[in-house]
Amino acid sequence: MKAFETLESNVRSYPLSFPGIFSRARGSVMLTDDGRTVIDFLSGAGALNYGHNNHQIKGAITEYLASDAVVHGLDLATPAKLEFMETFNSVILRERGLQYRFQFTGPTGANAIEAALKLSRKITGRQNIISFTNGFHGMSLGASAVTGNRFYRAACGVSLSGATFMPYDGYLGPAVDTADYLGNVLLDDSSGVDAPAAILVETVQGEGGINVARKEWLQSIQAIAKAAGALFVVDDVQMGCGRTGEFFSFEFAGLSPDIVVMSKSLSGYGLPLSMLLIKEERDAWRPGEHTGTFRGNNLALVSATAAINIYWRCQTFAEGVQRVGELMRRRLDAIASEYGRNFTVRGRGMALGFDCQMAEIAQATARKAFQKGLIIERCGSIDQVLKFLPALTIDFEALNQGLDMFEQSLAEALKELGARSACH
Ligand SMILES: *Cc1c(COP(=O)(O)O)cnc(C)c1O
Repeated sequence: MKAFETLESNVRSYPLSFPGIFSRARGSVMLTDDGRTVIDFLSGAGALNYGHNNHQIKGAITEYLASDAVVHGLDLATPAKLEFMETFNSVILRERGLQYRFQFTGPTGANAIEAALKLSRKITGRQNIISFTNGFHGMSLGASAVTGNRFYRAACGVSLSGATFMPYDGYLGPAVDTADYLGNVLLDDSSGVDAPAAILVETVQGEGGINVARKEWLQSIQAIAKAAGALFVVDDVQMGCGRTGEFFSFEFAGLSPDIVVMSKSLSGYGLPLSMLLIKEERDAWRPGEHTGTFRGNNLALVSATAAINIYWRCQTFAEGVQRVGELMRRRLDAIASEYGRNFTVRGRGMALGFDCQMAEIAQATARKAFQKGLIIERCGSIDQVLKFLPALTIDFEALNQGLDMFEQSLAEALKELGARSACH
């Protein structure tokens, strides 16, 4: 690891929590250079919903590469792009009664968020974006401006502007409906909040602590956006592609966003691929007004098409995610009540958070878990929440092994921290 310390920038983050040299991976298991086997409950922060090196998807990519088909074509028309759009259109959109145009942006989620903000501002002629407490949308300046986290905001080094933060669902406790507050503020010409170009929301806040918005709240937010003349934009970068038990995380609420932002697991293989789904009447771009060298990487489009064909042509996969999600939740609920304190479990589908309330408990548990062979990441405003994001394709053996390791780690962490505080 010494060479990494001297060669690579201090900015590296995950290696600090998960030291080791990871050389191979398949499904939900990663192998290190020194022969350790590690179960992955982080899944590339949600970029590996179908697991590492998914063998069913891999064939499509290797075949494509072997055929000398176009890999890089800027945004030129290719058969790979056409097949992706037609497949996504018929299998995902039409099945759900949705109609969108595709905009392929630069490869990262932040690239796609920037495009969504730009388009919303262009359409409305307004600057302000409503985003929410604990929201996370990426690291570029525009995306950071709509991201709540102070650490990330401070790193930008310039004043971030053009956004107003409003309380997310539940932020002010169960008694306050924060959608009412937002509605009042936006419809009051003297509230001091500028009319928004867009309301940008995650249906479950991934980095922000697996905070779950209720169906009714989301429906209100959509209605408020409409009444305020703003675009309703759902950031489905982390919660999309099946994570919550349906392809889009907003299906359960019957929402119809003006723009949907997709990235992370879209390619199905961990390859960078991002896009906006834009309602046709909102497609106000002029040709070339927003470009980028790496838009719609053809290799990633090929794997994305394969993932849709393999997993989304029937209901079985989504039902499995819901079932396994319930199983995980029952186990985590049992652990939460077994170990007392004020632990809470929340989430939807296979995106679950175990709120330890205290950062040091979450940190000690994650550290012990990694020693035992489990990668589990923390999230939330003070990193107090352990985030369970296993591949949607994980088998029961690996899932149960991982959950066992988590429980043992939590028990040991509590014992150790209890012992330590008793010494004071
Ligand atoms: C990861 C993430 C982003 C940013 O994606 P990058 O590829 O890291 O730029 C945006 N929104 C959400 C909800 C995310 O989880």
